[in-house]
Amino acid sequence: MTQIAPPRRTRVLHRSSRETPPLAVGGHGVWIVEAGGREVLDASGGAAVSCLGHQHPRVVEAVQHQVGQLCYAHTSFFSNEPAEALAEELVGHEPGGLAQAYFVAGGSEAVEAALKLARQYFLEIGQPRRTRFIARRQSYHGNTLGALSAGGNAWRRAPYAPMLSDAFSHVSPAFAYREMREGEDEPAFTARLAAELEAEFQRLGPGSVAAFLAEPVVGATAGCVPAPTGYFRAVREICDRHGALLILDEVMSGIGRTGTLHAWEQEGVSPDIQAIAKGLGGGYQPIGAVLVSGAVVDAIERGTGAFQHGHTYLAHPVACAAALEVQRTIREEGLLANVIAMGERLERRLTERFGNHHHVGDVRGRGLFRAIELVEDRRTKEPFDPALKLNARIKSEAFARGLACYPAGGTADGRRGDHVLLAPPYIVAAHEVDVIVERLGEAV
Ligand code: PMP
Repeated sequence: MTQIAPPRRTRVLHRSSRETPPLAVGGHGVWIVEAGGREVLDASGGAAVSCLGHQHPRVVEAVQHQVGQLCYAHTSFFSNEPAEALAEELVGHEPGGLAQAYFVAGGSEAVEAALKLARQYFLEIGQPRRTRFIARRQSYHGNTLGALSAGGNAWRRAPYAPMLSDAFSHVSPAFAYREMREGEDEPAFTARLAAELEAEFQRLGPGSVAAFLAEPVVGATAGCVPAPTGYFRAVREICDRHGALLILDEVMSGIGRTGTLHAWEQEGVSPDIQAIAKGLGGGYQPIGAVLVSGAVVDAIERGTGAFQHGHTYLAHPVACAAALEVQRTIREEGLLANVIAMGERLERRLTERFGNHHHVGDVRGRGLFRAIELVEDRRTKEPFDPALKLNARIKSEAFARGLACYPAGGTADGRRGDHVLLAPPYIVAAHEVDVIVERLGEAV
């Protein structure tokens, strides 16, 4: 293997302009290999992406086969076999009434397409006044301008505020650790959240709301936050009563990450439109998708007959072939059972290591989607001063120990709050879970 040390500054515009990251040159299982030969445990699957780990032979072979077969055919002329098979795999035996899949190149694109589909649905059924969307504070839906407008992280939105849409308003993120009041139990908390959402519909005028948009388990901006029991059933009821759609963003939480194929299966509801990405292609190819209910599909079919939104790389054959093999591998190898078993082990180990730590306020999450929240004071839940840049320091301390984890952050103001998010590949073994917690413990 050639050993290339990266120059201090390269021609690639990296996210940090002051620092060029090390070169990754290979991978196997949960490990990424650097140019110098060091192996780093990929404890967050990148950003909850690499669900099968690296260089899985089944997916590598499927991609190689498709590259030899057909790489590109524009969707205005052709469909292609991998896209048809992938759609069948995703919605063919779907419990929630989702009927069709629209394939894009990533998560932000999927969210944009979901929002535009919702808008188009109401145009098709003769309700053009439905132009408003309700999302949640402390959410993340992507970095393109529409998806950023939808997101509820004030700090990320601020620099681009003059370019963002005002079609979105934001309600509570349903974040129990931060928002449940002294003496309030879960049912009371859920009822208060439902009342807040109902009030927002009333404020906007219920006939003007197109959809409510939420992550079933909030990912990067709050650190693996599931909703309180009954919350999504209440949300579904409110949307139905006001004739609005429910859009769920499962870009991070979807495709098995929380132990079920979709996180919403654990909530007793199903969405009208759902965005997925990350684990869909498992990192083998860039791909995202919108899964759409029969009602929305039918309305478009009866109306103009075409979704007024497209991209050059829709339903890319190689991307779809990769995603198809990722999905088949997860299903045929029964990997969700490992997500549940290793998820429980991860939670147990994290609780043993951090449960009494003065600076760890919360250990939470579902399946292989877990986080710890670091606080100045465990008793008061006071977050650390952002000037400390704790997230960046933990990331670099962990990385120095051969662990790539995903520091995430943000309280309601989007600035304070430090979480470390763990989302290892579904193939992770018990001893690797232990290594993750041991190295993270040293770093913290
Ligand atoms: N939605 C959620 C919930 C996400 O976590 C992300 C990515 N972190 C996105 C959307 C955007 O996806 P992408 O980065 O692929 O555009």
